[in-house]
Amino acid sequence: MNITDLTAVSLAAAISSGEVTPTDVVTKCLGKIQGDRQLNNFITVCADQALKEAQAAEREIKNGKHTDKKLLGVPVAVKDNICVAGVQTTCASHLLYDYVPDSDAEVVARLKRAGAIIIGKTNMDEFAFGSANEYSAYGCVRNVRDNNRVAGGSSGGSANAVAAGETVLALGTDTGGSVRQPAAFCGVVGLKPTYGAISRQGVIGLCPSMEQVGMLSKTCDDALLLFSVASGQEMRALDGNVRGITIGIAKEFLQAEKSDGVAKVFNNAIEQLKALGVNVVEVSIPSFFAGLSAYHVLSSAEAVNAFKKVVEAHPTTALLGGEVKRRMLTGAVVTDGENYDKLYVKAAKVRTVITAEYLKALSGCDALLCPTTATVATPIGGITDPQQEHMCDSYLAPVSLAGLPAVSVPFGSEFGLPIGIQIIGKRNGEREILNIGKGLMNAVR
Ligand code: GLN
Repeated sequence: MNITDLTAVSLAAAISSGEVTPTDVVTKCLGKIQGDRQLNNFITVCADQALKEAQAAEREIKNGKHTDKKLLGVPVAVKDNICVAGVQTTCASHLLYDYVPDSDAEVVARLKRAGAIIIGKTNMDEFAFGSANEYSAYGCVRNVRDNNRVAGGSSGGSANAVAAGETVLALGTDTGGSVRQPAAFCGVVGLKPTYGAISRQGVIGLCPSMEQVGMLSKTCDDALLLFSVASGQEMRALDGNVRGITIGIAKEFLQAEKSDGVAKVFNNAIEQLKALGVNVVEVSIPSFFAGLSAYHVLSSAEAVNAFKKVVEAHPTTALLGGEVKRRMLTGAVVTDGENYDKLYVKAAKVRTVITAEYLKALSGCDALLCPTTATVATPIGGITDPQQEHMCDSYLAPVSLAGLPAVSVPFGSEFGLPIGIQIIGKRNGEREILNIGKGLMNAVR
């Protein structure tokens, strides 16, 4: 049995029955991380602490005190903008190189209470701005499927670490696609929960009206398990049965730009779901194409506020990278003078309209389906125009504006690189979309 290939669900069962020890698991993960250092998935590896926690978990198992801990001995990697007590938390920025929080983010505290072992802090785009992990002060993440390609961003280290078997689960954050997009590029499951479903206390965020902590895993069952622990909601297990449900495809999703491979795989996903007994209906989200711009105006404006405090605490911006500065400038411009009405207020109105359109589309069906990204993972250094980079969030950012839950599941490939399909649900519909994801993933096997 290759421990690092196990899912969290099967690993938790194997640990609890004594078949596998937490120390074995942690040792294997640390070995993998060490062996794959060129992938650059981690900014900090918590080797000593993880081994200590593994031994503590073993003692609990010996004493029979473990039965209610859903993640006992299961390794989880945590994006480096989520605080873990006593561990350097950099947001992949030189500005925070020496920041060590003294308490856990609420979500981390919940995982620890469930017995999870924090294996390390993952690489990301600086302050979570970016889609390729090329804006990290700690260097780019290299996609495990092809080391010359990006892993996506901003939670690239988390997605790639799960894909590489360096951890079983990972946490990321998603403001406009940062969990779903790297999940698609790395061939793993990435869940962005409903806005507000998970506490952000202890998360160094930028965009309070959209950002959510999200989950990266190999399967939908694992995403459900991690979501359940992180949110404190009890969830019924998935069965992957989608017969009789209705899925909407917005005609704008069909019109939007995508590579030939993505178009083919998307059609194939629709056909597979029909074959599984799903009713597929056409819907419309007329303002879909305005979503990405509205997202950039609003998220940049919010980020300026968030950054004011960080920058005031370090009276310099010299340590900030180019993309962060660009967003701060954008945020300042779109809220300045006449622009406030022309750009900021307009974007806020677009957001209201888009939200209403998604809700209307969802009123006649159980979920919406579209590609996660328009292309597969791009070559490192291959995209030099920020506009072009932002384009890869076109299917993702509008969902964030609407605050809806969405999951990217791996389905098919192009040039041997994974493609993700995004399933968008109603508010609090995490279980429903994960169940559809499970049905879809089962169909490929
Ligand atoms: N890629 C998007 C951006 O650059 C999303 C970022 C995020 O979700 N944190 O803004």
